[in-house]
Amino acid sequence: MSQKLIIVGAGQAAAQAVQSLRADGFTGPITLIGDEPYGPYQRPPLSKAYLLGTLERERLFLKSDAFYQETNCELVLNASVTAIHRSDKTVQLGDGRKLSYDLLLLATGARVRRLKCPGADLPGVYYLRDIADANALQAVFSSGKRIAIVGGGYIGLEVAAVAAKRGLTVTLFEAMDRLLARSSSVTVSDFYAAEHERAGVTLKLRTGLEAIEGNGKVERIRAGGQTYDADIVLVGIGVLPNDELATHAGLAAQDGIVVDQNGMTGDPSIFAAGDCTRHIGRDGTALRLECVQNAIDQAKHVALAITGKPKPYSEVPWFWSDQYDLKLQIAGMIRPGDHAVLRGDPAARKFSVFHLRDGVLAAVEAVNAAPDYMLGKKWIADRLRVDPVRLADTTIPIKEAV
Ligand SMILES: Cc1cc2nc3c(=O)[nH]c(=O)nc-3n(C[C@H](O)[C@H](O)[C@H](O)COP(=O)(O)OP(=O)(O)OC[C@H]3O[C@@H](n4cnc5c(N)ncnc54)[C@H](O)[C@@H]3O)c2cc1C
Repeated sequence: MSQKLIIVGAGQAAAQAVQSLRADGFTGPITLIGDEPYGPYQRPPLSKAYLLGTLERERLFLKSDAFYQETNCELVLNASVTAIHRSDKTVQLGDGRKLSYDLLLLATGARVRRLKCPGADLPGVYYLRDIADANALQAVFSSGKRIAIVGGGYIGLEVAAVAAKRGLTVTLFEAMDRLLARSSSVTVSDFYAAEHERAGVTLKLRTGLEAIEGNGKVERIRAGGQTYDADIVLVGIGVLPNDELATHAGLAAQDGIVVDQNGMTGDPSIFAAGDCTRHIGRDGTALRLECVQNAIDQAKHVALAITGKPKPYSEVPWFWSDQYDLKLQIAGMIRPGDHAVLRGDPAARKFSVFHLRDGVLAAVEAVNAAPDYMLGKKWIADRLRVDPVRLADTTIPIKEAV
């Protein structure tokens, strides 16, 4: 309880870890080291309200300055941890400092996957992961500009929605045959494609990016054998876990630092939480999640383990996305072969798709249907069997589908 703890990475998981450790009775000194100029902040608004300009920068921060004083947590910002020396339990900082720890929590998150095509480094190519990225993008967002968005995942679609609202001419390129192909059902993909087209976004599916061209700055992109004029390119093609610190220290990582159900790595004094981790999910398969829920819940479970009250992590993953006036909420994991049941009418812009695995509810995607999502999430946690016919029938109260 009084050991010296260092947290590497000042993001969502780190903020939760500090809060939970103190709430759970951890009294030792905590040092939080982050390579950004600020303390932990929420990233979701960066592609939503903050980018749109309806949320102030100050509202992004997860904790006040007073929180770090009250929790006796030393914030070391603008500082990058470059190595972990497990033999003498120290971490090396980029500026040469060495700090010792009894316990270490790696909460290093993920970084954007970068383009490798010709022209990828031209001025006018943007990514979106941190406040600086959002500010840079916001600064060039002006009505009438032509933005080419590469990637039809959540980041690409949320930026497309904001850009369309702000009067830019938006063309979105996706190599797969549908949007959100990695995470959503076909029903939800098709619904969002129609919504974006209705808002004036031009969608180019099955269209892989080949090159970005221009004389000293972005002027056009080449995709699917054709050329499209563009002033700005926003790339949203996924993230890579920041797991190299762990691997260089001899800890197991495989597209994410491998942790057990207490967030512990192979070294009992080193834990990890959030986007940088890979864990065994509720259905027994290894997975790496990129969501606020996982960062928060893993941090809570790490705090429990450190304070001697371990509770195996088996939370239902959940996620949300805001585009236009649509709120998409997802709980659970969709797997190929799941039986999809539609409740409600996409044309009414309010519906849910429930995913059953052997009759048991495994996932729900709800669009403007918060009650379906809330109930679905609970049923997934309880591993309840549902009746697909009753579930699909909106004349029957949803509660009567189990
Ligand atoms: C634009 C955007 C929109 C999103 N929208 C949603 C959403 O709607 N819903 C949702 O659930 N999730 C969303 N996410 C994902 C969510 O923000 C992440 O899952 C969450 O931030 C993960 O928290 P984390 O603590 O693991 O990592 P992060 O919050 O990424 O924090 C990690 C921190 O560690 C720092 N760091 C890394 N290496 C080092 C080092 N060696 N030394 C010091 N510091 C280091 C990083 O710079 C970073 O500041 C979104 C993400 C982005 C970028």
